Amino acid sequence: MKKADIGLIGLAVMGENLVLNMESKGFTVAVFNRTVEKVDSFIEGRGAGKNFVGCHSVEQLCASLERPRKVMMLVKAGEPVDGFIEKLIPHLEPGDIIIDGGNSHYPDTIRRTKYVEGKGLLYIGTGVSGGEEGALIGPSIMPGGSVKAWESVKPIFQKISAHTDAGEPCCDWVGEDGAGHFVKMVHNGIEYGDMQMICETYQLMKDGLGMSNEEMHEVFKDWNENELDSYLVEITRDILGYKTEHGEEVIDVILDAAGQKGTGKWTAISALDIGQPLTLIGEAVFARCLSALKDERVDASKILSGPGTTFDGDKAAMVDDLKQALYASKIVSYAQGYQLMRAVAKEHGWNLNNGGIALMWRGGCIIRSVFLGKIKDAFDSNPELVNLLLDPFFQDAVENAQAAWRRVVIKAIELGIPMPAINAALAYYDGYRCGRLPANLLQAQRDYFGAHNYERVDKPRGEFFHTNWTGRG
Ligand code: NAP
Repeated sequence: MKKADIGLIGLAVMGENLVLNMESKGFTVAVFNRTVEKVDSFIEGRGAGKNFVGCHSVEQLCASLERPRKVMMLVKAGEPVDGFIEKLIPHLEPGDIIIDGGNSHYPDTIRRTKYVEGKGLLYIGTGVSGGEEGALIGPSIMPGGSVKAWESVKPIFQKISAHTDAGEPCCDWVGEDGAGHFVKMVHNGIEYGDMQMICETYQLMKDGLGMSNEEMHEVFKDWNENELDSYLVEITRDILGYKTEHGEEVIDVILDAAGQKGTGKWTAISALDIGQPLTLIGEAVFARCLSALKDERVDASKILSGPGTTFDGDKAAMVDDLKQALYASKIVSYAQGYQLMRAVAKEHGWNLNNGGIALMWRGGCIIRSVFLGKIKDAFDSNPELVNLLLDPFFQDAVENAQAAWRRVVIKAIELGIPMPAINAALAYYDGYRCGRLPANLLQAQRDYFGAHNYERVDKPRGEFFHTNWTGRG
């Protein structure tokens, strides 16, 4: 019997769709699931008549694979991944590859890569983005881990991934040990930021300009036709235009309390840990936290007042300004995301492929957009680019947008409408372009109360000084 090209453990939403994708591209896939009845129901159901090998044990799964064996796990992140690694090791031989395609936290992937390599095997931790539909028709795939494993896995991954219009696969090698899962985590953080910024423009249009869902549907339709062309703007357009058969506008009956699964929080924590200003994503995570305090907010809304101002300007002009503000803020968000990736890659000695990452996000995933092509161009023309804002294309784009961006922020403040992510983006832009920040005063304060010392502008960096501010001994 022909051996399978790859094995997969975990026949839940992602696993089931991903193996159907693999099989449709010509691969034979051996499948296993902890609850083995799911293997049988899959083989008899969606997998019927197709090139699948249903397995009732990890041992059977490993025995049915072509060498080097490639076993991919798409199971709940955390302990189940470690549990399956332990179960797989006795049935694998040197050079075989264990792949974790779930949403594992990258420090776990760093640990697991070392552990599995220590057993003579190879390990890949890969981000898979695009949800159920992406898994079935072509996700964005972000693999990292044991570099020696890449050549064996590449033909499968690049064939099943999404492709750009130019036919390039949205999958390439990201880097060593935890790099793939790290980049997937940052992708999710950027997704939080993109979603929050879109929601802020929605609130300004709805509460500030008094626009109807139908009017906003038209705005997002227009925005999706040029530089903001993206999956998230597209679905926002569709959500605002959606009515049930009874004419109910579903968006209006959805409770305004956001959920989260933690990857945005992980991204913000990693930025805090390494000391990088990932302010926009941080604000996006906190905005979800604030939204979740629904009862408290409802009580507060009866007690606390706002400016009581209403919009009396040119609505169409404000909508155009909003588009520019969203675009400029989005550039800042990606600039911050790349700044974080650069710092973490340096700390772990990863050689990240920055342009390749933009290409991996170009299709198949939630943050896919036309804009990512411009990011790829920026890193292609300067692989050492320190900050996306310094690339000539993005520098011009932000400069062209900034007057409108400032008008939006001022107007939102005047109207009392919160725009934490868009405000944070502008504050970052103004801070980043500032040659001298007020941190001289901050250092003086630290030295005053804690003798923390300071460096001087007229002395070499690394020389520290202390002032006896009070004259007391
Ligand atoms: P899931 O609900 O996260 O996990 C279900 C799978 O994990 C099932 O195969 C289940 O086996 C297995 N499992 C759960 N607990 C286990 C345990 N203690 N020991 C062994 N196996 C266990 O499934 P999913 O939504 O398809 O996601 C799979 C992975 O992809 C996750 O890491 C998820 O975060 C990630 N991901 C999901 C999406 C998405 O849109 N859903 C998108 C990208 C990435 P049983 O059938 O026996 O319970």
